[in-house]
Amino acid sequence: MRISLPPTPLQGISNARLPAWALPADWPQQNGEPLTADIRFDAGKISALMPSAQPQPDLHHLGGALVLPGLTEPHAHLDKTFTIGRSQPAAPGLLAAIAAMHQDRQHWSAADIHQRAARGLARAAANGVTHLRTHIDWFAPTPPLAWLEMATLTRPGITLERVALAPLGFFASAETADSIARAVAQSGKHCLLGGFIHSSNWDPLAMENLMLSAARWQLDLDLHIDEELSDSATGLVWLAEYLSRRPFPGHICCSHGCALASGSEQQAKQVLALLAEQRVTLIALPMTNLLLQDAVTGRTPRQRGLTLVKEATAAGIPLLLGCDNVQDAFCPAGSYDPLDTLACGLFAAQLDHAFDQQSRLICDVAALTGAGPGGSPFAVGNAASMVIFPDSDRFSWPLNSAARQVIHHGRLIYQRMWEQEFTYES
Ligand SMILES: [Zn+2]
Repeated sequence: MRISLPPTPLQGISNARLPAWALPADWPQQNGEPLTADIRFDAGKISALMPSAQPQPDLHHLGGALVLPGLTEPHAHLDKTFTIGRSQPAAPGLLAAIAAMHQDRQHWSAADIHQRAARGLARAAANGVTHLRTHIDWFAPTPPLAWLEMATLTRPGITLERVALAPLGFFASAETADSIARAVAQSGKHCLLGGFIHSSNWDPLAMENLMLSAARWQLDLDLHIDEELSDSATGLVWLAEYLSRRPFPGHICCSHGCALASGSEQQAKQVLALLAEQRVTLIALPMTNLLLQDAVTGRTPRQRGLTLVKEATAAGIPLLLGCDNVQDAFCPAGSYDPLDTLACGLFAAQLDHAFDQQSRLICDVAALTGAGPGGSPFAVGNAASMVIFPDSDRFSWPLNSAARQVIHHGRLIYQRMWEQEFTYES
């Protein structure tokens, strides 16, 4: 339907169809789905949330359109993005993509990095993303240019987090590990420590140094861990066992975790149970993993490359889906639209109830930051920031859902609509 919103502060919206996961448990239902909601705004915040009943002439009537809170992009690589035109890998798979990226680094001037990263951030914002976490490769134990350049990047409506993505080998020396963690801690707000942990660089001593240095500098962690379909990958097994002996003071996200799908069911269950106890969040990257895992020229992939999303959910582990690489040597396609990521994940992992349940996988900021269950994102007092899908219904969403209106602190800031659709019949 045509929903007309002015780019001025709004009083609120009425007849909005919110997802079941974001509503209080006692929210009324009708025909097996939640009643639509009326939401009032005041000074950029939500001042009232109630089931739709009487007409509210001062609110903007959405006619049952789907509405989500601001979207979360939990895992991007803004330093590499939009380089595919000059960075073609020589072979399929993750390690060839890493080699191509190193070739492309000669072009990474401050202006080049800034222009590409700003473009990615702008696309994400226009799609309704309000929180974006980017990993940034460190090529030496000191902050790279991209780390510094990204600190200057701002976009209204988006919180940007930076993760230092350092190869595990940098942490082999306790002294170097400490200096990396110190540099991250001294980089200001929204900075985390990360690492690339793979069977090709596995070193338990370096892993321990990484954990200890992060704890010492009070940093949260987001690890690229076990991004491979190999039963010899030991990162997550090691981490689960380590945390059971030595609880970590901050929050940990584990990105990828593909190898969980390769080992035994029994071992995966034990690892997931231990990670759940430590409130570790798992981030699956369906597009890149489908593309880079089990990738052999001329052969259809047999394996999906996806971590155990259903088993993780059953174990009580917070789960998110991210885009990972966008238009670079790792992934020549991709977008900064979390709906594209979710659509890929729904089919790859065979997930159902896309809007009412799975939309949480692209909205749950608390799962990303470890803030804990924060109640409904539409609760009174929260920011009046949300995304309206004017042409979607819950059965086709997230497909055919490019049209959207993004509200930031009670004000329309982006809008993408279908203007016309023609049919020519002979
Ligand atoms: Zn990544």
